[in-house]
Amino acid sequence: MQLQSVIYFVSPKKGKPANAITVTDLADFYICPRRFLYRKIFGQKLTSAMIHGARQHAKKYNEHKERAEKKMELGLAVDLALAGEELVGREVEIHGNGLYGVIDEIRLYPEEAVIIDYKASLSERGKIQTMAYASALRPYGVENITVKIVRTKDDEPLWEKRFDENDFWFVESLKQRFHATVRAGTFPKKEHPEVCETCPFRRICS
Ligand code: SF4
Repeated sequence: MQLQSVIYFVSPKKGKPANAITVTDLADFYICPRRFLYRKIFGQKLTSAMIHGARQHAKKYNEHKERAEKKMELGLAVDLALAGEELVGREVEIHGNGLYGVIDEIRLYPEEAVIIDYKASLSERGKIQTMAYASALRPYGVENITVKIVRTKDDEPLWEKRFDENDFWFVESLKQRFHATVRAGTFPKKEHPEVCETCPFRRICS
């Protein structure tokens, strides 16, 4: 979709509400509940790829900030879009449907929103993250949501999907499993070879 006249905006940050699940926690939990637990207890050493990715994100955000005309919360931006404006925000804080996160980029049109997550490569974790953002956006009154993953280094689209009812209920059931697991204090191992191979905690786990 080609934008004609666009309002570029940044959002103020309030931080995570106490009762919300962060989108990254939910995605980590989906990949492996035990890995999610280890990450919470031990943290994770930054890899050079993570540092490089963070630098690229910061560069994109600074470019965006320079051209941004307005500072506004997502709710106001959605209202302006519903009234006929087109807006682009980066590093936009979102809190809805019991989920909290910061969206890399959101494009708001009068009848649609596009959520874009910038990643070094495509992964299940990234897909879960973008769908959780879309689930959090629903209570703002946006019905048509597309989620996209774009490669950070060259803006190459890697994946795109219309967020539908099945996706919504998938995120809901994942949230329920998350809460039940935290309440019970049991964090089962996923033990999927592909996941375990690259897990930073595989030595502790075994
Ligand atoms: S090694 Fe595998 S089962 Fe263990 S925490 Fe990592 S991903 Fe989970």
